[in-house]
Amino acid sequence: MDLWLTEWQTPDLGLKTRVKKTLFAGQSDFQKVSVVDSEQFGRMLTLDGVFQTSVFDEYIYHEMIAHVPLYTHPNPKRVLVIGGGDGGSVREAVRHDSVESVEMVEIDGMVVDVCKQYLPEISAALIQNHPKLTLKIGDGIAHMRDAENRYDVIIVDCSDPIGPGEGLFTRGFFQDVHKALKADGLFVQQTESPFYHQSLIRKLHHDISGIFPITRLYLAQIPLYPGGTHSFTIGSKQYDPMTAPSRKPLFDTRYYNENIQKSAFVLPNMVRELLSGR
Ligand code: SAM
Repeated sequence: MDLWLTEWQTPDLGLKTRVKKTLFAGQSDFQKVSVVDSEQFGRMLTLDGVFQTSVFDEYIYHEMIAHVPLYTHPNPKRVLVIGGGDGGSVREAVRHDSVESVEMVEIDGMVVDVCKQYLPEISAALIQNHPKLTLKIGDGIAHMRDAENRYDVIIVDCSDPIGPGEGLFTRGFFQDVHKALKADGLFVQQTESPFYHQSLIRKLHHDISGIFPITRLYLAQIPLYPGGTHSFTIGSKQYDPMTAPSRKPLFDTRYYNENIQKSAFVLPNMVRELLSGR
């Protein structure tokens, strides 16, 4: 009998994929964790029924959330990743020569363990105990409260603004991120779909631009996520991603390149209007 898995992207819209096999299903202290093998997306992680990442298209999200901020900063050395339990963001961050250390603070140890077992191509840097990497299992919000003038780049690779990730979408959190960054630091956060999460994007843009002098939204095409187009928002103290010099990666990438670094910030009018509050 056919088995299908549906993610309810809005109350009226579901993305349904045919499942070959359920590889893991468990309940952590924070959320329902599952890994299934699907026909379209290959192995994929879901948390509380929400699709998080898949071996089919994970490179798009992870290259774009890591390389855009890391190539905006001219010399990033100390990097923090909040969330990102599948390991994809840290896998990309450690590839930058200038980066000396990557700390990762993920609240849910079960996500890390399960991804190491079932999604090894995504969690490769965690499996290898990469020498640049330090993993802490704990709350990213609390970690940020204690940090000051410490990081060049912070990558907030969080799940949706419900459950343990809710506090990562608040003004208070962005103020702590500002405090945790060095004088020329910058951060990026995944900010959901410009089609289905417009009020969230508008609120985040408003909150971040009230704290950071430079706030920029960029887009990437990611089939797994609602609407197939995903947004990311950068808050920066000094460097503007739209005028950062183009630098060709010294390693292979499948989506990101020096032209994407520029074109990702070219926004359709409906997104511009969203950000200007019209
Ligand atoms: N690429 C994904 C997406 O956009 O759906 C995000 C993937 S990653 C698996 C998100 C991670 O953030 C989850 O593993 C979750 O446990 C973690 N997380 C949520 N709230 C957190 C918090 N307060 N501190 C640290 N990690 C958190």
